Amino acid sequence: MDIINQLRLVQERIDRANKDNHEVKLLLATKTVPPERIKIAFKAGYTLIAENKVQEVKEKFDELQDTPHTSHFIGHLQTNKIKELLKYNISCIHSVDRFDLAEQLNKRLDRELDIFIQVNTSNEASKFGVAPKDLTELMKKIDDLEKIKVKGLMTIGLLSEKSEKVRDGFKLLKELQQKIGVKELSMGMSGDLDIAIEEGATIVRVGTAIFGQRTYPDNHYWPI
Ligand SMILES: *Cc1c(COP(=O)(O)O)cnc(C)c1O
Repeated sequence: MDIINQLRLVQERIDRANKDNHEVKLLLATKTVPPERIKIAFKAGYTLIAENKVQEVKEKFDELQDTPHTSHFIGHLQTNKIKELLKYNISCIHSVDRFDLAEQLNKRLDRELDIFIQVNTSNEASKFGVAPKDLTELMKKIDDLEKIKVKGLMTIGLLSEKSEKVRDGFKLLKELQQKIGVKELSMGMSGDLDIAIEEGATIVRVGTAIFGQRTYPDNHYWPI
């Protein structure tokens, strides 16, 4: 994959979908991508990256330090990995889906941390994310944690060929965002970023459309 060219194509998709010209950040989902390839994107000016696994954050950390960049975390996070993750200068976690996790983060932090609450918008029992009906209560409880700042909501779109069903999930996340009064919407990946932006995404998380196919299937990273 020619990363520079792919970045240009993805940026064109973003601009085309962004009809009302709101701010849309392109976050690079860099799981399985080696540092030297990530740095090609850095050189092109794309410096917002995220990993799914603490181990991969750790492995790439040193090699990426010579270029200023911002690191988020987008994977399912086990509480016993929090301490390790916080060593690596992560500025935002997109995948907080339970109070226990937020509480443990708050306890371990010596600074403020931005988070997104991950919502299960597709009603699939196996997926991570808080159920929409439980969001308000979770939000209220997390609001009491002084170091945790809820910036927005995140969802993984339904993996479906039926774009109207995918769109319904994004519409639901937007409604929930307005209801609870947060600013950002982290939604949209390689296959569905166009729809996500049309429905108001402020951050899209893109991997394969930039770096090419991964050797691991997606269910290595989240249950589908
Ligand atoms: C890998 C990943 C993405 C990007 O997926 P692509 O289909 O490769 O663009 C987005 N969000 C999460 C949580 C991911 O794990």
